[in-house]
Amino acid sequence: MSINEKSYAYGSSKSSIREIAAYGSRRKAEIGAENVFDFSLGNPSVPAPAEVRASIERALDLPSLELHGYTPGPGMPAARKAVADSLNRRYGTSYEAGDLYLSCGAAASLTITFNALVNPGDEIIVIAPYFPEYRVWVETAGATCVEVMADDKTFQVDTEAVRAAITPHTKAVVIDSPNNPVGVVYTEETLRALAEVLHEREEALGTQVYLVSDEPYREISYGKAIPWVPSIYDRTIVCYSYSKALSLPGERIGWVLVPGTNPEHDVLVPTVAGAARKLGFVCAPALFQRVLMDCVDVPSDVQAYAENRKALTEGLSKLGYEYVEPDGAFYLWVKALEPDCEAFFQRAKALELLPVPSTSFGCGGWVRVGYCVSHETIVNSMPAWAKLAESYR
Ligand code: PLP
Repeated sequence: MSINEKSYAYGSSKSSIREIAAYGSRRKAEIGAENVFDFSLGNPSVPAPAEVRASIERALDLPSLELHGYTPGPGMPAARKAVADSLNRRYGTSYEAGDLYLSCGAAASLTITFNALVNPGDEIIVIAPYFPEYRVWVETAGATCVEVMADDKTFQVDTEAVRAAITPHTKAVVIDSPNNPVGVVYTEETLRALAEVLHEREEALGTQVYLVSDEPYREISYGKAIPWVPSIYDRTIVCYSYSKALSLPGERIGWVLVPGTNPEHDVLVPTVAGAARKLGFVCAPALFQRVLMDCVDVPSDVQAYAENRKALTEGLSKLGYEYVEPDGAFYLWVKALEPDCEAFFQRAKALELLPVPSTSFGCGGWVRVGYCVSHETIVNSMPAWAKLAESYR
């Protein structure tokens, strides 16, 4: 049988994060959910806001064809306008409905964007540690995925390392702030330094380098301002999703924004639409396009994550663990207690603790602890974290 070998490979092996989550579910069935501390998946533990339910209930009264019919490929003009107006209120911009392409979450937004930008031979830079699906999406779009390590202390973008990695083939740099897996927020200073490097290299090489800003965690921040990237670098495309902001990961709704200030805006808008068409990612879920019209300004409820973050960081700190102070998202980046993070993970697993080893994200020495779980899970996991630390003494 002649099939696509790459697709077979992607489909027949799960991502390591999903492997750990599947193990967690099996283990919970064996020994009881309360005895397994699964910190693997980024599935929001906070319920979707009441406004989402109210919006869905109102929509259900619409005639069926209106409710369930196809929408225009890029989304309903009113939904796109609602998003544009909301961005304009928040960031003082002047975006229009036509600058937005509604999509099935950040996954589709990124895949569409990579397919809009890439030609054979192009390279896309990702900042390691990084969300592992980036590699799949970049390679599937036909580009080479080039990893550039973040600063090993602050985990901000190492702008000098980015400078060194840019070649005449570099098409884009992908950033993700608040960051999965580390939880850092890129400062305005970092972003300005990155913009300067990109401008400098563009000029020296006579090329154009895009900044793809992946922002599913924009609303999950613990007090730090999250700079608006297109105001810092003009050749930015923003990929957004409501998976975490409104706790709607299963509903698949997000968008791609080509800001009017992007110098290639007029060509990029139809190219994004063309990439979506090429991939069959047209017409995002109609019901959730309607939900956006009602809920685009509903704030994210970060209180529960903030409480989890406090309990986890205080608990682990008392036990002597080192971690990167998380300013956003819902992940804690914890230093493994030995250089081999896989071996550390195996010891954790034997104590029913399930973080994700950092090798999944393109570097060694750490684990990611997702704290989008119940508060009880964090509190009850502490004796196991204590035993794990004890086993290294
Ligand atoms: N980008 C990052 C950094 C993520 O963490 C995720 C999901 O966890 C995605 C993209 C994909 O998001 P979505 O579920 O909206 O497709």
